[in-house]
Amino acid sequence: MLIIYLIFSNNLLISSNSNDKQRIICDFCASIIKENYYTQNGMNYHPDCYSDNIQLKCSFCYKVISGVYNKDGGKNYHSDCYRFNILEKCVACNKPIETKYIVDNWDNKYHEFHLNDTPTCEACGRLICENITNGGITINTERYICNLCSKSLIDNISNIEDIKERVLDILSDIGIIGLPKNIPIKLVHTKAELERMSQIRLGDVHGYTKYEIEKIGERKIGENFEIYILSYLHEIVFEAVLAHELMHVYLFNNDITLKSNKREGFCNLGSKLIYEFYNNNFSNLKLKSMANNDDPDYGKGYIFMNSVLEKNGWESFLSNLEKW
Ligand SMILES: [Zn+2]
Ligand SMILES: [Zn+2]
Ligand SMILES: [Zn+2]
Ligand SMILES: [Zn+2]
Ligand SMILES: [Zn+2]
Repeated sequence: MLIIYLIFSNNLLISSNSNDKQRIICDFCASIIKENYYTQNGMNYHPDCYSDNIQLKCSFCYKVISGVYNKDGGKNYHSDCYRFNILEKCVACNKPIETKYIVDNWDNKYHEFHLNDTPTCEACGRLICENITNGGITINTERYICNLCSKSLIDNISNIEDIKERVLDILSDIGIIGLPKNIPIKLVHTKAELERMSQIRLGDVHGYTKYEIEKIGERKIGENFEIYILSYLHEIVFEAVLAHELMHVYLFNNDITLKSNKREGFCNLGSKLIYEFYNNNFSNLKLKSMANNDDPDYGKGYIFMNSVLEKNGWESFLSNLEKW
């Protein structure tokens, strides 16, 4: 959008042509001017010729423009006609956008300054306001979720067993098989609680897999898994976190030890599968943000493991995991 403010600076005079010796010709209609006329940029015009054909008109209301006006796309507008009818409106406050603005991933255009005092949704990234999301909710006074996403949150009454089946199915398609079926999934109420119980840095993956092993000497005689996931995650994010954690289970289960960047990069490939499975705007945004994350483990590690996967395919990738 091009906005230019100009001052209407054309030289405009009204003269009287009472002296008949002076023959003045209208530069628009080429006939003689007998009385008053307008002159502009060295040209003379009948008043009607001038106002109908020469004088600047607003392309919105078609009335004459004088004073300050706006030019946009080769057209001229009264400032108010421009502000209230031509300029795009902010979706958040309905006022014209004349200052810096944001176009979010959902094509919502709004004033940048709204971000100073209005939270965005942790799931979809939309500005939480009446017009865009029909409001939203706060969880633990630190998390904000919009009302478009709040219908899809996973809590204790969600059918987590069904979700687990679905995620295990998606993972089994690429060869992640033999995982224990009865791993309990427990919801944790705050990020702080989750961080406290985890033995590793979690990055922005809001889940943790607890692994206990029973050994006699060097021989493994039993193992136990528990998966903890932050409550009230959006269902698609929940599935992606669960897939990430089940990839950890696969590593434990197969006694595969990887350095942190390769381990978390590998587990994020589980999340990637979920997002690719949904293949909608929401999940594609999540895929993009995983690829743009510059965390050494969860971002760079993921990009590295993904590139190895793409070169080798799942079968060879999985059977040589410790080699990459
Ligand atoms: Zn004329
Ligand atoms: Zn106008
Ligand atoms: Zn606004
Ligand atoms: Zn949302
Ligand atoms: Zn992890």
